Amino acid sequence: MGSWDCYCAICAGPIGRARIAKRSRRAETGEENIPTLEMPDTLIELPAEYERWLDDSDHSDDWDEDEEDDQEMTDIEDENENEVEPEGEGGGEGEAQVTEEGVITSAVSVDNEVEDRGEGEKKKEEQKEEEEDEQDEQGEEDEDEDRFGDDFDGYDPAVLRRRDKAWATMCHVLGFNSKAPGTSKAFVTGPGVSQEYGGIDVQLGSDPNAQDLDTGDFHCYWHWEKGDPVFPFHWPCYELLVLVLTGARDPSAINKDVLYSVMRSISPPLGSVLGLCYSEPDADPKIDPELEQYWESRPGQELLLASPARSEGLRYVVLDDLSRRDFNLLPATDPGLARKSQGDCFARLPWEIVYYILGFISDDSLFKLLQASHFIHSSLHRDATFWKSRISTKLPWFFELHHFLQNDPSASTKDMKGLYLWARHVTKPRFGMTGPYMAIANRRRIWGACQQLADLYWPNLPPPSAAPRPTDLSIRTRTSNPHMSVVSCPIVGREDLRNAFWLLSWEENRHEKLVEAFWDADGYLVGMSVAPKGSPRRLFGLDDSVEGVIVGSVDLDKSVWIAGIDLHIPPLDLSNVSWARRLNSPDDPFVEPSTSPKGVTIHMSDGLAVWLGDVNRDYCIRPLWPAEGHSVVGVNGTIGSIKGKERILRLGILQAPQIGVASTPDKAEPPLQRRCLWREDFYYHAEGLRMVPVGETETTNSDFHLDLLPYHTFRWSQDERDLKRLKRLTAQFIPAGTVSRPGSDFSFEITHGLCNMRAEYDVLPHDARPVARHADIDGTPFPETDLRHFNIDGPGGERVIAVSAVMSDRVVMGLSLETNFGRKVMWQTEEDVGSDWQRVTHGEGEYIAGLALCFGKVCGYDLEPKKSYKNTELSAVAVLMLPCHSGTGTAQFRESSVGGSP
Ligand SMILES: [Zn+2]
Repeated sequence: MGSWDCYCAICAGPIGRARIAKRSRRAETGEENIPTLEMPDTLIELPAEYERWLDDSDHSDDWDEDEEDDQEMTDIEDENENEVEPEGEGGGEGEAQVTEEGVITSAVSVDNEVEDRGEGEKKKEEQKEEEEDEQDEQGEEDEDEDRFGDDFDGYDPAVLRRRDKAWATMCHVLGFNSKAPGTSKAFVTGPGVSQEYGGIDVQLGSDPNAQDLDTGDFHCYWHWEKGDPVFPFHWPCYELLVLVLTGARDPSAINKDVLYSVMRSISPPLGSVLGLCYSEPDADPKIDPELEQYWESRPGQELLLASPARSEGLRYVVLDDLSRRDFNLLPATDPGLARKSQGDCFARLPWEIVYYILGFISDDSLFKLLQASHFIHSSLHRDATFWKSRISTKLPWFFELHHFLQNDPSASTKDMKGLYLWARHVTKPRFGMTGPYMAIANRRRIWGACQQLADLYWPNLPPPSAAPRPTDLSIRTRTSNPHMSVVSCPIVGREDLRNAFWLLSWEENRHEKLVEAFWDADGYLVGMSVAPKGSPRRLFGLDDSVEGVIVGSVDLDKSVWIAGIDLHIPPLDLSNVSWARRLNSPDDPFVEPSTSPKGVTIHMSDGLAVWLGDVNRDYCIRPLWPAEGHSVVGVNGTIGSIKGKERILRLGILQAPQIGVASTPDKAEPPLQRRCLWREDFYYHAEGLRMVPVGETETTNSDFHLDLLPYHTFRWSQDERDLKRLKRLTAQFIPAGTVSRPGSDFSFEITHGLCNMRAEYDVLPHDARPVARHADIDGTPFPETDLRHFNIDGPGGERVIAVSAVMSDRVVMGLSLETNFGRKVMWQTEEDVGSDWQRVTHGEGEYIAGLALCFGKVCGYDLEPKKSYKNTELSAVAVLMLPCHSGTGTAQFRESSVGGSP
């Protein structure tokens, strides 16, 4: 699969990929004085930040390619400067005469021409000459030549200048950052350019929810690696969308979380644009954006690249045109109408009612009605108020016309019905359209897409009074979300961000509270509420008002509060996954594994814990805990559908610093062990435990979201005394795949995946956990082959003091342990694992007690008969450290004899 273009989510137009032809076919086939999108003094200007970005970066290829021809076009335009006429559809001097079908019937032709043949010839000749010069100079073929074809391929330069499409050169993106610290997660970035393979290179901009994100991980419309996609758009399109969604021009008035959820819900798999209708239902199909693998710049479709933005220049041109027209209507189209519509039922209705109904019907219906009812026809024919009101409600995108009606003294002299018919006609998107009304036609088209988004956006806005807000300022203004985790999969489609505050004031904590959890018929957690007894529920998700949902509850005594929450999530069946099957070939339909929380443990401030739902010991544990010095004040997360059933997709807690605690962003984060998914529940609470990742922990996994891949605890010592019994650490390997070496086509090397670890002692310590795991994903025990041992003289005082790892392609390629005796072992999956070793040592006053191991990379694919994976190999590793309690421990563990990386 090659690369592809991604299109603007709002207009479906290209992002920087549009091509202006080198020569104008229209001009060279004899057409003269073709009206351009000529607009004095505007559109030429790029926003300052665009200019800066283009200057600063090496992303300006697309722009540069155009620049070389730009001067040529500017010269031609300069020639024509004095003939800036408001041309195009129905343009020109005089009176446009229109019928009720909206068709221009007078002598005014659709493509009105200015009589200046001499100028036209001159322009044509000049253009030809320059083209010839250019061809001589251009020795080498453009690398895109194959893709773009000949000199006429692209938009007609006589209709659309290169700078006219500058607005579509760059885009911004709407994205979702589950790690954003506040209750809102969606963000809009600064400007950027699109990249190959759905990538996007943008400036993060000033949105606080976008801080510290890696733009290299941005993928438009869908994400290779189970991350959250971003949605690209042109800024002028976004401004239109803001206006449609909010009725105002302030982008901050948009609920970005809801908009993101809406866009995600209509983003098709492997798509490059949203699933909207981007043209009017009755529009000429020839003007539809052709959303192929790459953007097709087809002559005749220039209007798709006409900026929909408001601009002074466009307004000037349109106002000038409007002031010079009088929109005379033809006489009534059918003299026999009065006779035919005798007994007109509308004549018997009160006029106010008729008037009211007419406001709701479409133009098509209205014009049919005008032909059918003489009463309505004669009543409305000169009713300026009616037509003026219809202009404002049915043509909301024609800003220039509204401005004219409000501000121009000549407006009151115009025939409003004629004006309405004319306005509909000249702004109808048409193939081959030219002139300034292209911009308004494109705006009209985009407005339609914005309205479809609005129809999805408005119902999803949370009602203002739905959830109670904290009354206590120290809660309301200082609430943060330390970590929101994916708790379900697969996440496809709609995902609505929701918050529920459970503590509105610190005072409420002195009362008795009721904790409720809600389960659907399949036993999955679908909602939670905590509220003072007797108060209405403070609900996140669904409650038992939904059919089939049942409730479980527990009381919290006075002054007892929630210290933390553990979710119990059935582990994913990793064997049932493959990239090939994800593409869903018909002969191998892929059923994507799914999971969702089934149980909840509530840890309370008095040290007790209660369980609700299914807390099977084989399930994974997802801790949701506040940072030190903070209290739980609520939850936030997303709700959506898993295989057609409403579930909690992501969940995190809302926390606020306790009274008297100053909170800074770095202190608002719980320790790593309370942000990971665990296969066992008992270890992350250990006092003084420190978990430090070796290398990158944020590497994505192509099959599942990292939040759903659990860590296994491999703990070789429960306390320092166990270290004296340790005799051997062993890594277990499995055949994991093959690798070919450059230069030797048929030479394959078997790679070995690190699949398990275990410890041996002279006397087995009580409660040690000497094996990381007991079976691989296919359920069979690990084979006793390819064991690689590392003897340790525990009784003699030897300790592991450093752990190193080297990662590649989501696999731990090498793992190395060093001891205080200067010895080390290197376990490698291949002969050559590279040199990028990351090393972690214990800190002062602590010792290395074990490792946390994530086996998240599937391997050992069984083609026949099972078509599933057998094994997983090590994909992430972290060091677990505990504080030393014996006085002698620390000095002994200091690394004195080993330094540097392995
Ligand atoms: Zn757009």
